[in-house]
Amino acid sequence: MVYTYTQISNGEMDSDFKFFVNRGSPKKCMEFLMQGKDMKNEYLGACLDYMRWGGQETVMYELGTKGMINFIRQWMNLNKTNLIWNEKTPPKNLTLPYIKHNKCPIFGKHKGTINDLGGKVRCAHKSEKKFKPSFIGSFSYFDKERQMQIVNYSENEPRDNLPDCAWDENTGKLLDSYKNEWEAHQKQMEKFENENPTFIIDNYCYAILSDEKAILSLEKVLDRLNLQPRTKTVYCSGFECKRIDEIPKNERELYEGERCGGHKEENDITIHPFSGWKLAWYVQKWYEQVLDGKSPVFEK
Ligand SMILES: [Zn+2]
Ligand SMILES: [Zn+2]
Repeated sequence: MVYTYTQISNGEMDSDFKFFVNRGSPKKCMEFLMQGKDMKNEYLGACLDYMRWGGQETVMYELGTKGMINFIRQWMNLNKTNLIWNEKTPPKNLTLPYIKHNKCPIFGKHKGTINDLGGKVRCAHKSEKKFKPSFIGSFSYFDKERQMQIVNYSENEPRDNLPDCAWDENTGKLLDSYKNEWEAHQKQMEKFENENPTFIIDNYCYAILSDEKAILSLEKVLDRLNLQPRTKTVYCSGFECKRIDEIPKNERELYEGERCGGHKEENDITIHPFSGWKLAWYVQKWYEQVLDGKSPVFEK
């Protein structure tokens, strides 16, 4: 029961297949499935395969990750008492798309590993960084690769905040009114140069080597299987950006009167190098990670 797009559009399907009727493009097929209860008592694999564009080596769905999640949840709702994913059970060697590295992906010679609470194995390589204690700056951010909050430390060399007009245009001499400020800056510079870097911060690599023991969300599974990037950049047509309201106020200046700088949008297509039947197996594997269908759908 695997049909190519041509077979679907020619209506060359088994007559006992519920979606036998030719409904036009795969997008129309998808819209049809999303509407009523026709997916009840049908394999998820059959439903997915019915609404895909088919190439020689890849298949494409006109749905991004979020749309795909909606589609799968719709199917699950209709079939909750009997989740029939695929005609066959998944092959033994089919596993979820885990991260599997045998050495650190950031620097291969890093040694040591650590298991985190979420079931991930991370690189435990430690490096020490020394800072001048009076001049440390830090900021924290969520690192997508490492999937964790990271604090980044840096050493901030003192800066003079004097404007260009603090110096006389002709003689190049500092104006009297800025002398105090300049002296204060000089003192700070002196302190900076003479201070020893006695503040030591342990810096761990924490790159993910494996997450085979972690519970993957459906969102992550679909993202990792998808050959398309999650987001795409779209540009406004014509000369001016028409979506200036979406840009944070402090960045708008850069856009004004300029060509559109592009907007990030969720990609609305998904591409896989395998059929909808195989995708159904991956969804089944995701579902079966936790008992009672409690596997997470979205990343927190
Ligand atoms: Zn490492
Ligand atoms: Zn724009």
